[in-house]
Amino acid sequence: MIVAVASGKGGTGKTTIATGLAVVAASRLREAGGEAATVTLLDCDVEEPNAHLYLDPRLDSREVVGVPTPIVDEVKCDLCRRCAEVCVYHALAVLGRGVMVFPELCHGCGSCTLNCPKGAISEKMRPTGVIESGTAGAVRFAMGVLNVGEAMAVPVIRQLKSRFAGHDPGSLVILDAPPGTSCPVVETLRESDYVLMVTEPTPFGLHDLTMAVDVARDALGLPVGVVINRDGVGDTKVDEYCQREGIPILMRIPLDRRIAEAGSVGLPLPVALPEYREPFLDLFRLLSREVAP
Ligand code: SF4
Ligand code: SF4
Repeated sequence: MIVAVASGKGGTGKTTIATGLAVVAASRLREAGGEAATVTLLDCDVEEPNAHLYLDPRLDSREVVGVPTPIVDEVKCDLCRRCAEVCVYHALAVLGRGVMVFPELCHGCGSCTLNCPKGAISEKMRPTGVIESGTAGAVRFAMGVLNVGEAMAVPVIRQLKSRFAGHDPGSLVILDAPPGTSCPVVETLRESDYVLMVTEPTPFGLHDLTMAVDVARDALGLPVGVVINRDGVGDTKVDEYCQREGIPILMRIPLDRRIAEAGSVGLPLPVALPEYREPFLDLFRLLSREVAP
């Protein structure tokens, strides 16, 4: 089961939910299924990964990842412009006597290489980030880290998921998504079994929740459920919206200063405050039921 934890808005407590769910589900699956059942947490917020600050994993593997970027052989090239025509990202331009490549715009789709009639294009990997992986207790952990100044988050997320996000029966993969609704979020959510939206009961929370639901449920066709964090601080509009849209509310976390304190010392919530272990177990049970065929 692959569950993406997302939020239209930053700062809603998405990583608190993802890491809390991971540690509780890992201990439950170990009790129930032995070594074969695994919980994997992937931090897909590659521009600003922070789940490792909660889980303190032992990272024992590091892999450079990147984008295959074209290199043009000027001897073979006859300046036909076909490569520039097929590049929807405008990462190539035929200017004067040569082809200019803008590597920062290239998504590595390979279309120019395939379409060059002279076979003048080869590819070279341009590093855009790293994937680090290891374990945090019973949780398998991996995160993507985008290079500083690099804009191309999607290929790092795609490679992180391709290595670690398998649909293994009995196991749980949790994807800690970036905030917002842009391309990195879409890449994270794609092919998930369920999207858990973390929000807060405020006008901003509701506004960004509706946009995130538009992407996950309406555009990608994924089932969604909601966690309301800081329950009680605002109004009841999020509840009314969920009821109207038929979206289940799977968990509520009250505004509790001790939760922020647990985060500030880098502990998963159910570890810092054991009274939250049972609510996270309930969340895991509800998710298993929601995803069950
Ligand atoms: S498609 Fe090939 S031959 Fe044509 S301009 Fe591009 S690199 Fe040159
Ligand atoms: S690989 Fe794709 S994105 Fe990159 S330059 Fe070629 S066509 Fe454009």
